Amino acid sequence: MSARVPADAELPTDDAPDTVAVVGGGALGATAAYDLARHGVDVTLFEAGEIAGGSSGRAAGICYDAFAEDVDARVAGRAMERFRAFDGRGDFTFDETPYVWLARAGDDRRADAIREQVPRMRANDRDVELLDAADLAEEFPTLRHDDVAVAAVARDAGVVDPATYPPLLATLAEAEGATVRAATPVRVRSDGHDGPSVVHRDGERTTFDAVLVAAGAHTKRLLADAGISIPMKPYRVQALTADFDRDVPTCYDATAGVYLRPHPDGLLVGDGTEEREADPDDWRRAADDWFVDGAVAAVAERTGTEPSVERAWAGLCTATPDRDPLLGELADGLSVATGFQGHGFMRAPALGEAVAAEILGGEGIARFDPTRFDGDEAFEVVEGMVVEE
Ligand SMILES: Cc1cc2nc3c(=O)[nH]c(=O)nc-3n(C[C@H](O)[C@H](O)[C@H](O)COP(=O)(O)OP(=O)(O)OC[C@H]3O[C@@H](n4cnc5c(N)ncnc54)[C@H](O)[C@@H]3O)c2cc1C
Repeated sequence: MSARVPADAELPTDDAPDTVAVVGGGALGATAAYDLARHGVDVTLFEAGEIAGGSSGRAAGICYDAFAEDVDARVAGRAMERFRAFDGRGDFTFDETPYVWLARAGDDRRADAIREQVPRMRANDRDVELLDAADLAEEFPTLRHDDVAVAAVARDAGVVDPATYPPLLATLAEAEGATVRAATPVRVRSDGHDGPSVVHRDGERTTFDAVLVAAGAHTKRLLADAGISIPMKPYRVQALTADFDRDVPTCYDATAGVYLRPHPDGLLVGDGTEEREADPDDWRRAADDWFVDGAVAAVAERTGTEPSVERAWAGLCTATPDRDPLLGELADGLSVATGFQGHGFMRAPALGEAVAAEILGGEGIARFDPTRFDGDEAFEVVEGMVVEE
């Protein structure tokens, strides 16, 4: 099986569902709802709070296609293509911005990983190039280069305001006939004879031909409540915006473990990963001092200018044992989309499309098949933005 998204004309197949509930109005759920609705499915999108009120609205909005594995590269390439197609619709814009990542001198492990991965990205048709310190200085003069062992640049990349993407896709889904129900938390059941169902707060139960759970950090709890275990752990990451007047590309300093991107306020800086499982109902929304101090110092070191912090926050990402998503059918008519390891926003246009295509009778993405695990695997949370293999 491949990551090929079936041509629209091939979908839906004869055994595709007529009615689908999508649980979760983040980037994933809103994309899937749109792709299901435009194929004529009767879709209801249930969102507990506001559309984009979860991790999607707290993300950094960095998007690129610099992935070494063939499936990842194809998925990310397709996502960039769709972001550009949505550019300028509603409040959503995709601002072309190169993505630079680097390892510092002395950090041989990460430098070797960058040198090894870039040729594989190129073999997968990604527009990515290795840069030495002199190349970096020439092309990106606002970034410090004298401490850099190796850098790379991906040109098929951009930055977005992530909070504008799910509302656009939800609106497009509605225009295709979907029903969008914000402020409507639901539970999920998969034991019905007629198909999976959602249960409302007042106990009312509605059966659908298929249900997609794309509830972000709450996905594991929702499925556990329905008697299904998945190996996923939410974990906390952090970001800040700052006043800053230099022109920079998006840049991930892998040695420092900090990324920065241009932002309407000046700069957005992030990472601050806590490598432990977070409680999706009880976690600290504000950023920690250690993250803010470290991020400011890393930016000053990389750009020679100290940023002036305006806002700092935390949000949740979702980890899996192999760092790949859980995407596709878990039980009869019940599908899942979670475990994006810090890269869920940038891949949402393609992964939402892929899971919708699988629900419509397509193949799905074999490597991300959620049934590859038993569900009770023990594993450690590791941060998403790592370059070492
Ligand atoms: C600080 C930070 C920076 C990040 N930066 C990036 C980045 O630059 N690029 C990138 O690709 N990724 C980034 N990420 C990761 C990205 O945010 C996630 O991978 C992505 O948003 C996941 O989207 P989602 O739709 O799966 O989940 P969410 O956006 O969390 O959506 C899930 C939705 O489900 C709803 N929900 C939960 N329970 C229920 C229920 N019972 N009933 C109904 N609805 C329910 C929630 O309210 C929520 O709105 C970042 C994350 C953080 C926190």
